[in-house]
Amino acid sequence: MAAMTAALRILNEIFGYPAFRGQQAEVIAHVAGGGDALVLMPTGSGKSLCYQIPALLREGMAVVVSPLIALMHDQVAALAELGVRSAFLNSTLSGAEAAAVEARARRGELDLLYVAPERLMMGHCLALLAQCRLALIAIDEAHCVSQWGHDFRPEYLQLAVLNERFPGVPRVALTATADAQTRAEILERLGLGEARVFVSSFDRPNIRYRIVEKDDARRQVLDFIRAEHAGEAGIVYCLSRRKVDEVAAFLSSQGMTALPYHAGMDGEARRRHQERFQREDAVVMVATIAFGMGIDKPDVRFVAHLDLPKSVEGYYQETGRAGRDGLPADAWMAYGLQDVVQLRRMIDESQAGEAHKRIQAAKLDAMLGLCETAECRRVRLLGYFGEASAPCGNCDTCLDPPATFDGTEAAQQLISCVYRTGQRFGALHVIDVLRGEATAKVTSRGHEQLSTFGIGAVRSGREWRAIARQCIALGLLQVDHDAYGALKLTVESRAVLRGERRVSLRAWKEGRRIARSRAPREAMSPDNHSLFERLRAWRADAARSHGVPAYVIFHDATLAEIARTRPASLDALRGISGVGARKLDAYGADIVGLVVRHRAG
Ligand code: ADP
Ligand code: ZN
Repeated sequence: MAAMTAALRILNEIFGYPAFRGQQAEVIAHVAGGGDALVLMPTGSGKSLCYQIPALLREGMAVVVSPLIALMHDQVAALAELGVRSAFLNSTLSGAEAAAVEARARRGELDLLYVAPERLMMGHCLALLAQCRLALIAIDEAHCVSQWGHDFRPEYLQLAVLNERFPGVPRVALTATADAQTRAEILERLGLGEARVFVSSFDRPNIRYRIVEKDDARRQVLDFIRAEHAGEAGIVYCLSRRKVDEVAAFLSSQGMTALPYHAGMDGEARRRHQERFQREDAVVMVATIAFGMGIDKPDVRFVAHLDLPKSVEGYYQETGRAGRDGLPADAWMAYGLQDVVQLRRMIDESQAGEAHKRIQAAKLDAMLGLCETAECRRVRLLGYFGEASAPCGNCDTCLDPPATFDGTEAAQQLISCVYRTGQRFGALHVIDVLRGEATAKVTSRGHEQLSTFGIGAVRSGREWRAIARQCIALGLLQVDHDAYGALKLTVESRAVLRGERRVSLRAWKEGRRIARSRAPREAMSPDNHSLFERLRAWRADAARSHGVPAYVIFHDATLAEIARTRPASLDALRGISGVGARKLDAYGADIVGLVVRHRAG
């Protein structure tokens, strides 16, 4: 276990952290001992250390394959701040710069080399690596080999070759995508049959999940950010490019720093926006899912969805970008029936084969089930990934449990109205008929003559929409794929109509209110808070002069602990999580000086 003593020393002295988290120690021991590994851990759990520490423990240089060119720069800068020798090779380097990196690698002057996959597979690069002593090969974002996922990268399929080219070099593949299918694909496609698989809990306890009924989405998200996250960084996801542009313009017009990001923008504008998001303190990125992988920012305080994601996997990955630093963060979503109709149509109109469409439809159903559940959201989410858990106390249904009622009669009314109108109309029309609204569409079809006309007048349109969504989520009705979102009966509908199946529904509640999660800065006393703000201002200067994002200098969590404990000496400062030897050298005197002056008033 000498290796583990050394590993712990590296963790304490270089990274400045007191203890390993979760399975880090086991993975590190296994890889440092020369074994292959597949590491499945949620975002923010500390996957990087699982290869960085073995890289320092083993002889030679570690190669890190990462698809995220934009990030390599920050990762290497962060390692430089810790005094670790690393570099990257990607298309942003000039010929001379790349040659200099290659020379350092050949001379054995690097502990870690980050390489983009397309670059790695070139003959030139493989030849370079053949001349170096390799400590290990890490394949980050390994789910990019999965052809079913939305992050598929064809270059990743070629990485299997590394096995033959560099036999005996341990390989570690890492991902935050948890489902069994992706896991199997990674093991197979990367030739990792012998690898030990490490699966962590996928829970992200600091994230508070909330799903609200969509009404005026732009206004709702504005209110949410204003009330709970003013001056903080966050991501707002929308389905279409057009909506991204609109929402970004709207939030900007309301005085926020909101930037759009989608695949329709030119590469330069996207790069600039991503960079501002990474580096500035309070940028709201409004984006399609094109903005995702590779957001390394630890202090994203909220992720908001203005449209229903297509799958629970996607939702979990997107919301997982919040709160990587472990401090309280929000995952907030507004969704409505129209989302379901729209996504069903997109699935149907896509060029994919029938088998693929069926998979997509099943994924959407699972997402819908999550939205409509009256149980703990986290129990549902983790259950989807095969993990059992108890109600969490940190989601909307736990914090404000929805009342349920016997909705059998309401469901029967809705289903029979769908049937009487010929299963050819969307929910809004069916609800008009139920409520006895003699709209032009209703009268032109003669639907005011139906026996179901007006039988549901006691309920509001909103209540009926909530009932319709739940009936769809429960499989009691389905949204027709090809008839403009018409509602149709299912086999289950008949059982309800015949009175053989009772239906429990969650009651629709006016203005559900959840206490806001406490932002890290609010949990502090005013005096600590003022020291915290001073430390942040100092950090902003330091980051600017080093040309790195602020969090690369110190995380908010580290500054908060300094503000709370007020270390008056370098020794006291050394004990704080996130303060390693190199940072103590570089910044210790500044910080202690600041604390001492603050104490003196
Ligand atoms: P992932 O790649 O799994 O999303 P990272 O490797 O970026 O996560 O780590 C997330 C954050 O947690 C980083 O800021 C990292 O420095 C911090 N971290 C990792 N391991 C530890 C640990 N043992 N103790 C404290 N902080 C840690
Ligand atoms: Zn819960």
